[in-house]
Amino acid sequence: HAKARGKARFEIFDASMHDHTLEQLQLENDLRRAVERQEFCLFYQPVIDLARDRLVGFEALIRWAHPTRGLILPARFIPMAEDTALLPPIGRWVLREACRSLAKWRKISAPGSAPTVSVNLASCEFTPGLVEYIRELLAEFQLPAAGLRLEITERTIMGNPESAAALLDELKSLGLGLQIDDFGTGYSSLGYLPQFPIDTLKIDRSFVAGIDGNRENYEIVRTIIALATNLKMSVVGEGVETQAELDTLRELACGQVQGNVFYPPLEAQAAEALLFEHRDALARSS
Ligand code: C2E
Ligand code: MG
Ligand code: MG
Ligand code: MG
Repeated sequence: HAKARGKARFEIFDASMHDHTLEQLQLENDLRRAVERQEFCLFYQPVIDLARDRLVGFEALIRWAHPTRGLILPARFIPMAEDTALLPPIGRWVLREACRSLAKWRKISAPGSAPTVSVNLASCEFTPGLVEYIRELLAEFQLPAAGLRLEITERTIMGNPESAAALLDELKSLGLGLQIDDFGTGYSSLGYLPQFPIDTLKIDRSFVAGIDGNRENYEIVRTIIALATNLKMSVVGEGVETQAELDTLRELACGQVQGNVFYPPLEAQAAEALLFEHRDALARSS
């Protein structure tokens, strides 16, 4: 009896594994087609400067507009794209699209208040060819490099610290903003940090969550902010969801935040509408 149950369970497991593989294969196939047909779009999450109470930029976040499955989030297809060598063309599309938006938004912003746009890079995009590609994009869209920010993770840097340092130096000499994403979750050896030309640490959402009541998270975030301040870097608190979290980050002098407490990632049109509002508010207040 027990054996029969065991066998049945085994078959169920096997069948679901099979489905999973099939679905995975299907999605991979679709992804290949999606690259050709350009089924991707970027959402933009506002970044707010807390001291000035102002919108200062956006983070570009990719979504896949799948013809039958609807909008698919990056966690579902970015790892797959990395495994199947589809990421480089997707990454180049993201950079180009982000630059296109940035160029458009600079035109509608009041002088001196143009937003920045930050782009997430996977490890496999972090290669010497990136420098030339970005140089071309900046020229094509006539953008100042400082308007574009790149987000890389500790894992990307620590995979090969020496070549990462050389690449970061090149990107920095173009004038780009360089940020470490999900800071605190990687394997970084803190000793390395001062050797890289990093401008900003983005504090991972897992540390921001419940920071108003959670002593450990509070201490971690306080320490990251102190570290950044000592190294003359700025900080962005990620995924701020509640007013209490926001108040605590303000109290800790966290420079900038992103999160649903202000805005979720927005479609390009909504981001643009926000920029218009922002420009009009600035005009009224001056
Ligand atoms: P990330 O760079 O750390 O981006 C922040 C994630 O937190 C985004 O998820 C964003 O939608 C979400 N988020 C923002 N505010 C809140 C909040 O208040 N609460 C909660 N619970 N979540 C919030 P998303 O868009 O699903 O992206 C997930 C990850 O996928 C990103 O994490 C990034 O690592 C990666 N990713 C996104 N776009 C790209 C891309 O164009 N290229 C590459 N290589 N990776 C990307
Ligand atoms: Mg990011
Ligand atoms: Mg992050
Ligand atoms: Mg993340």
